Parts: sequence; structure tokens; C-alpha cells
Amino acid sequence: LVTGEFGPFRQRVYDLFHYASQETGGQVAAYIPELAKADPDAFALGGCTIDGQRLSIGLNEGDETREFCVQSVMKPINYAIALELLGEEVVHTYVGREPSGQSFNEITLDRLRRPHNPMINAGAIMTSALIRPTHDMNSRFDFVQRVWRSASGGEASSFDRATFESESHHADRNYALAYFMREHGGFPEEADLFTTMELYLRCCSIQTDVRRLAAVAATLANGGVNPVTERQVFQRETVKDVLSLMLSCGMYDFSGEYAFTVGLPAKSGVSGTMMIVVPGVVGLALYSPRLGAQGNPERGVEFSRQLVRSFPWHVYAPI
Ligand code: GLN
Repeated sequence: LVTGEFGPFRQRVYDLFHYASQETGGQVAAYIPELAKADPDAFALGGCTIDGQRLSIGLNEGDETREFCVQSVMKPINYAIALELLGEEVVHTYVGREPSGQSFNEITLDRLRRPHNPMINAGAIMTSALIRPTHDMNSRFDFVQRVWRSASGGEASSFDRATFESESHHADRNYALAYFMREHGGFPEEADLFTTMELYLRCCSIQTDVRRLAAVAATLANGGVNPVTERQVFQRETVKDVLSLMLSCGMYDFSGEYAFTVGLPAKSGVSGTMMIVVPGVVGLALYSPRLGAQGNPERGVEFSRQLVRSFPWHVYAPI
């Protein structure tokens, strides 16, 4: 979007946001007690273009600046970090790149006994195991937080300790996934199961808002260079891999449907957040805690559908 087009773009996004706000279906995630406290009516959107123009909108008082946990939106970031540390070939000996077709926390592995992809719980536990496994927890988590800060345009993300503790006490399924992978010899030798789980759960509880998250999405839209600081956060090759898997696997077992109807790389999380990447154009972030059957925010999905009706951004729209 060149400067002259930003005004009409912003207006259209406002209209689509208000249209999507009429979607009131879905339920707030209850399996993590702290998340169940979220305001079901909250709705916010942030945008950042690849030339650094920004917008943010909130439906109710306070929504625009409301902080929330990234939850599964940490998955593309931990995958990107693992790729940059170890390279594509090594990373994919530990984790596949195929949609699982099953729910995000299903206990299942692929034919090579790897988690299917880095965008579901098992795969993100695995990419967490690959992030500096021999370093101590604080330095590993600081390292991840520093990447979030650079990708957010220099604005630090906080950490929601209450959600981290709440989830840590209700993480049986995630532990089951980790034990299952360890039983099948899937973990890297140096990785410890408990510290891997702690890092994974800490990363899920990184806290941000739509403004900062839109800058992260814009960094991906801009080939790894944050449009606000112009800093190279990720290599171009890394971004290509991350966006490919967001397109095929980013929306859990709704990913095929989303790729068909929306045709954009996106990632959702059970807190109700979502980032949408329009490569070479804009990064968008949404927050709306009511989730549909597959764990995606209903309003986020509705907004996405309307977005590609208004703009020719479906990956195959130009055909
Ligand atoms: N922290 C959540 C979990 O591990 C992340 C899952 C999600 O956002 N879908 O269950």
C-alpha cells in the first residue's frame, strides 16, 4: 500500500471490523482457567503495512490497548527461531511439515514418528526443545523475548505469570504429548522434557496487544525486516518456510478450509488472538476470545473472509 492508498484501506478495514463484530458465536476457551476469565465481547484489530503505516481499532472501551497472551501464535516464532539456529534440514528431522488434520493437541505422530508440523502443540513443544537446549531457562526465555521485541518494532512484550501458572497446573495433555514424543525417541539428546515444557508454556504466556502483534505480522509480510525499525529480524528463507506452514497448518484442523476460502498465511491461538499476513502488503492482528469448534476466533475468521472479498489478496486471486 503506497501512502496515498492508506486512507481508503483503513476505512475499509474499519467497516470490515464492524461487520465482523456482529459475529457473536463461539465460546471462550475454558480448559486453561485463567483464559476463561477473558471478556467474551472484547474485539480489537491492529494493522501495520510494509512501509510502516499503522492502525488500531477497539470495539469497546479499552479493547484497543488490551493485553492478551499470544498462546499458539508463539508457534511460528519458535519455529522461525529454531530455523535460524539450526537450519531447515536439521529442524525438519525433528518435526514434519504436513497438516495433521486433527485437533491442535491430538496425541499423534507422523510416519517418521515426528510431530506433524510446528503449528500444533506437539510440534511447538519440539521446536521449543530445539531452542538452545543446553542454556538455562532464563537465558532461553530472554532470547525468545528479544526476538519478539525486535519483531514488534522494538516494543517489549510482557509475560503473563498468572496464565503461565494456571496453564502449568493444567498441562496434562501437553505433558502426555511430550512423553509420547520422548518414548518414540523424538527429542534431541540434549533436551530435557521438563525444561522444554517450561519454555513452551512460558512462550504461550508472552503478552502483547494488537498493535505490537500487527508489527510482528508485518515483519513476516515484509520478508523478515520490521517495517518500523527496518531491522532484519528473520532471514528471508526463514520467512518463506514460516509462511508456507502458516498457510497449510496455521489454523489447526480448519487450515485446509481457511487456505481455500481465505488463501492467506495466518495463525490463531486459544486466547482468541490471530495474526494474518498479506505478503508484501500488510500484517494484521486480531483479538476476540470467542472460539469456534476448531479453536479459532470466530470473528477473526469472519473478518478474514470479508477481507479477501474486499481485496484481491487470496494467494490465487491474481490468476
Ligand atoms: N498454551 C496452549 C496449549 O498448549 C496453546 C494452544 C493453542 O493456542 N491452541 O494448550
